[in-house]
Amino acid sequence: MTIDNPDTHVMSNEAMDWQQVDRSYLWHPYTQMKTAPLPVPIARGEGVYLYTPSGDRILDGISSWWVNIHGHSHPYLNEALARQAMQLEHVMFAGFTHKPAAVLAERLIQVLPAGLKRIFYSDNGSTAVEVALKMAMQFWRNQGDDKRRTFVVLDHAYHGDTVGAMSASAESAFTEPFKPILFSVARAHAPYCFRCPVSLDPNSCNIDCLARLETILSAQQDTIAGVLVEPMLQAAGGMIVWPQQFLQGVRRLCDRFGVLMIADEVLTGFGRTGKMFACEHAGISPDLICLSKALTGGYMPLGVTAATETIYEAFLSDDRRKTFYHGHSFTANPLACAVAIASLDLLHQNQSLERVRSLEAIFRSRRTSLQSHRYVGDVRILGGVIALELVRDKDTREAGGYLDRVGPELARIFLDRGLLLRPLGNVLYFMPPYVIRDDEVHWVLDQIDDVLNCWQWPKS
Ligand code: PLP
Repeated sequence: MTIDNPDTHVMSNEAMDWQQVDRSYLWHPYTQMKTAPLPVPIARGEGVYLYTPSGDRILDGISSWWVNIHGHSHPYLNEALARQAMQLEHVMFAGFTHKPAAVLAERLIQVLPAGLKRIFYSDNGSTAVEVALKMAMQFWRNQGDDKRRTFVVLDHAYHGDTVGAMSASAESAFTEPFKPILFSVARAHAPYCFRCPVSLDPNSCNIDCLARLETILSAQQDTIAGVLVEPMLQAAGGMIVWPQQFLQGVRRLCDRFGVLMIADEVLTGFGRTGKMFACEHAGISPDLICLSKALTGGYMPLGVTAATETIYEAFLSDDRRKTFYHGHSFTANPLACAVAIASLDLLHQNQSLERVRSLEAIFRSRRTSLQSHRYVGDVRILGGVIALELVRDKDTREAGGYLDRVGPELARIFLDRGLLLRPLGNVLYFMPPYVIRDDEVHWVLDQIDDVLNCWQWPKS
């Protein structure tokens, strides 16, 4: 690619304009290493491609941080956004309401797992999780039980970067500097079959890793407000795909011990796993669900926390201390709601769930050959996501985790081929917008094949 190297070809006007832009005031996430390459300028997007100011094309293989599902700059979504902007760009949501918020809530209720009946809006995935944690705790308190303030979370969890969401996430480089201000949680095993937490063979086990959750719930049931999980796919923790029995087990245990089950479907919602919501794989409904990312088709920041009627009713009171005092300036932003409604239209019109399932079929057809590479320890596939866990040695399964420098190294190699992949350390994954064509999927998998054929694990 010729990014930042204008000498190699004739520059477009746009590229020349870009050269005048001073980037030195920007503070980008994740790119403060002195040796990190400069962020890639993007001028426009169309379908599955992003274009640099000089016209280089990059296939967006991770849906721009997992948000995009219908492709970039989709005419139908553009129009919905423009139409709404001409009507009402924003109004505060306390004491006021508007049509896009009401219509979106009704549309969501129609597709959400059974029992989720009340829609609370916020701004992004982290705040959707914060809201769920706060709702769960106040739900108990409003009923006179203020002992229930602990949350059970899973190993390898990632729920966002705000303080509550960080507290509920696994300890990592992301959370380490803030440890003194994070609240404590109880941590149960995740069903990470490739590195089984209870050292069993996943082909013959009885989901024994669930026992840890049972032990915690039985020992602390009077103090636990809820269990928070990323159903079926723990994403940032390494694209860990679950057996659906684990998810069924979580629901069963929450019922048995009378605690709330919170599903963080910020990533998995809206078809990414081949079902509208990942909870459907196990045929269960949570008490609270957190949504964001693909909610707006990847266009606008918007969060939703949906709750059961039972939870909502615990807040209904003339005693103002029972009110849920949580609201953001941009709660239920009409532009975001309008584009989310249009995204739901497209999900149905484009038969997106069928499309995701056909992506999964292609991934499965290429599994054996991908698995055969020297450094591929495990191949995990669920819906529109394929992940390769790379290991230095297949016998020892040694790898460096999220901070492993193989991640940035491979990202650079793929970018040079016009492909945006951004491994989570040693976990290389591909998660495209659903509208990607079959030949494009095969092209990406060919690139992965080709790179893994010749690439050598860096010497430590
Ligand atoms: N929850 C899950 C499962 C996520 O994957 C993420 C982000 O990747 C979040 C929450 C946080 O979402 P956001 O980045 O919109 O704050």
